[in-house]
Amino acid sequence: MRLQRRSLLVLLLTPPLLARGAGIVGVRMWPAKDYTRVTIESDTLLVATHALVTDPPRLVIDVQGIALDAGLRELVGKVRPGDPYVAAVRVGQYQAQVVRLVLDLKQPVLPQQFTLEPVAAYRHRLVFDLYPTEAPDPLLALVREKEAAEALASQAIQDALGELIARVDKPGMPQPAAPPLPAPKPSTTPRPPPPITAEEKRRIDRLIIVALDPGHGGEDPGAIGPTGLREKDVVLAIALQLRDHLNAMPGMRAMLTREADFFVPLNERVNKARRVQADLFVSIHADAFTRPEARGASVYALSTKGASSTTARWMAQKENAADLVGGVNLKVADSQVMRAMLDMSTTAQIKDSLVVGQEVLQRIGHVGQLHKRRVEQAGFAVLKAPEIPSILVETAFISNPEEEARLRDEDFRRDLVDALATGIRRYFAKNPPLARNRPL
Ligand SMILES: [Zn+2]
Repeated sequence: MRLQRRSLLVLLLTPPLLARGAGIVGVRMWPAKDYTRVTIESDTLLVATHALVTDPPRLVIDVQGIALDAGLRELVGKVRPGDPYVAAVRVGQYQAQVVRLVLDLKQPVLPQQFTLEPVAAYRHRLVFDLYPTEAPDPLLALVREKEAAEALASQAIQDALGELIARVDKPGMPQPAAPPLPAPKPSTTPRPPPPITAEEKRRIDRLIIVALDPGHGGEDPGAIGPTGLREKDVVLAIALQLRDHLNAMPGMRAMLTREADFFVPLNERVNKARRVQADLFVSIHADAFTRPEARGASVYALSTKGASSTTARWMAQKENAADLVGGVNLKVADSQVMRAMLDMSTTAQIKDSLVVGQEVLQRIGHVGQLHKRRVEQAGFAVLKAPEIPSILVETAFISNPEEEARLRDEDFRRDLVDALATGIRRYFAKNPPLARNRPL
């Protein structure tokens, strides 16, 4: 009898509370090797707690002040078979005002929980990022890729890469900003490299590593064309094609800052390139502009003294806002490291970036129209690696209906990729990189 009365009380109390409580706007999952993100978007700020449980590993999340609804149940169906971390999601009304989510894990994770204020088209977001307990070694990943792609490649090149890994792990090397993770264990270092011969040294000197950075991703769609083409999708397609193109060139190796549809913070894109000691950083975009008639490709380099045009300034501001939309956990973002990086001298980097930018601009000018005939400059956060020539290519204006159609067109994308690869190759032919054992 008492129980019944209590249930009645809950029933009476629940509707008004929920009416001014949270309504779920959407639930999303972004699985990736780097980390898997779970986003719960709601019309008010959600309060939640989480706990890790072992045997079998799972993450238990209690969200306060909401009732289980169809929106939340959708999360169950959002788990993809290829998700590296999440095997399944279960949801249930745990208490009258508490919904419990249980994420069955494929491997132990380091979870990060944070909330994001409403921004752009988004309302309040409650975010769970599941990171691996051991960060993968990017150089080792490059080696493995190379081994798979070039099974017949000479042992010397592999040894050369092994030697590179050892050099990166040497103490005393300036460390890039730490990812939001504990430092990777040194035990992940492969076998100690054999002594290096003169021939091997020559090969290292000639191995060129290009970091390709498809803009946006995950929660950040980038610009959206008049018929719905998303910048994040088209630039990923271009970057994947360009990677294959560059990898087919002798002595060239491309790596991507993201290979899937997930969000990478701007400084982490730069860090990824620095960790593999890239010789060049190319960020790929296809943005919108305020005027739909704006058209043509542009190439940007960094500026430390203001933008070269109002369009360039506008573009940089827009790109630099990606972290807000994509969603960065401010608690772990290392602002001090970022600031130190911005203070480093970039004069030489900018000079080299303008040279490679001009080379690329010339080639893409043969494929389509150019927005401007010279490389423009502005304060793009993603171009700030102090030691790596860095350019940002706006391939076309996705806001222009004609250019959106071209971006959809496989032939146009292939021509564009050919042009980018040719520009990059010509730059390195004229400006061979110094031996990789630059002073560390
Ligand atoms: Zn963009």
